[in-house]
Amino acid sequence: MSAIGSPRFDPAPKAAGFQPLATFLAPARWVPCRPMRTLLHLVMPLVCVLALPALAADQDDELAKTEIKTTPLGANLYLLQGEGGNVVALTGADGIALIDDEYAPLAPKIEAALGKVGKLPVKFLINTHWHGDHTGGNAIFGQHATIFAHENVRKRLLAGATRPDGRVIPPAQPAALPVVTFEEGLTLFFDDEEVKVIHLRPGHTDGDSAILFKKANVVHLGDDFVTYGFPFIDLNSGGSVRGMIAALDTLVPQLPKDAKIVPGHGPVSTIDDVKKFARTLEEIADTIDKAKKAGKTAEQMKKEKLLEPWTPAWGHGFFKADAFIDLVLKDSKS
Ligand SMILES: [Zn+2]
Ligand SMILES: [Zn+2]
Repeated sequence: MSAIGSPRFDPAPKAAGFQPLATFLAPARWVPCRPMRTLLHLVMPLVCVLALPALAADQDDELAKTEIKTTPLGANLYLLQGEGGNVVALTGADGIALIDDEYAPLAPKIEAALGKVGKLPVKFLINTHWHGDHTGGNAIFGQHATIFAHENVRKRLLAGATRPDGRVIPPAQPAALPVVTFEEGLTLFFDDEEVKVIHLRPGHTDGDSAILFKKANVVHLGDDFVTYGFPFIDLNSGGSVRGMIAALDTLVPQLPKDAKIVPGHGPVSTIDDVKKFARTLEEIADTIDKAKKAGKTAEQMKKEKLLEPWTPAWGHGFFKADAFIDLVLKDSKS
């Protein structure tokens, strides 16, 4: 598990299982560029190495100011958005089932927001994948909740990782680990809802799951579907560009056509938005592969602005066209 927020930000420093930001950022003393911070786990390739004190304080201030926005999704389902990945909460008669949990320092705020729409505690927690902006609160919610996730989520949290830039993500503490893992999926019957957890083939990572709330007709797609633009795909966590397209193409026909889609990051979307996302991703990957086959290097593709046709729509996120060219080329090599 990873967390953002420095020890001095830590809202509950003595809480058992709490893992402060230091464990996430300190080894390399990295501080991400501020505009990129919303997707902290995605900034890894783009990290800015800057003087820590001022920016760490800035980062802490920003998180301290973060408010959790709650949006009803129908039935007893809610979308919670602060910093990090989208959180979905299913409220029941005697507890809550939660999908993802953003960052550890936000856990008290998330809990407070949950208390306004449902009855605490969080009894079940399902992680869509292992990245810290989706599992950062695991150690805190895991004190009361049973955590479910694909087996690769547990493996990667347990192992930690060293990023290509040398940054170390330490192994998660026991309280942050999923205690029930699965290979293909599972079904959780909670209150009056049937929650289908479906493992997707390697896409954003190799431990991705989509979560379908059958009665509410809502699907959380994790980071296999995002709306911020060129999507970050974590090749170092077993992800794959073509895999992400295939995962979506396999899943979408299984979903109700009128389902509400919760992306990993971004506003509530539709099935058509997901289809368009997958096709756009495919067009871009095809374009890069074609240029590669024509003998073009990454530098040439960037100089020629190969992804210009998609940049007006997809170039506004933190992950830019040039970085995406590198990612697709790196993926096609493996
Ligand atoms: Zn994310
Ligand atoms: Zn992610």
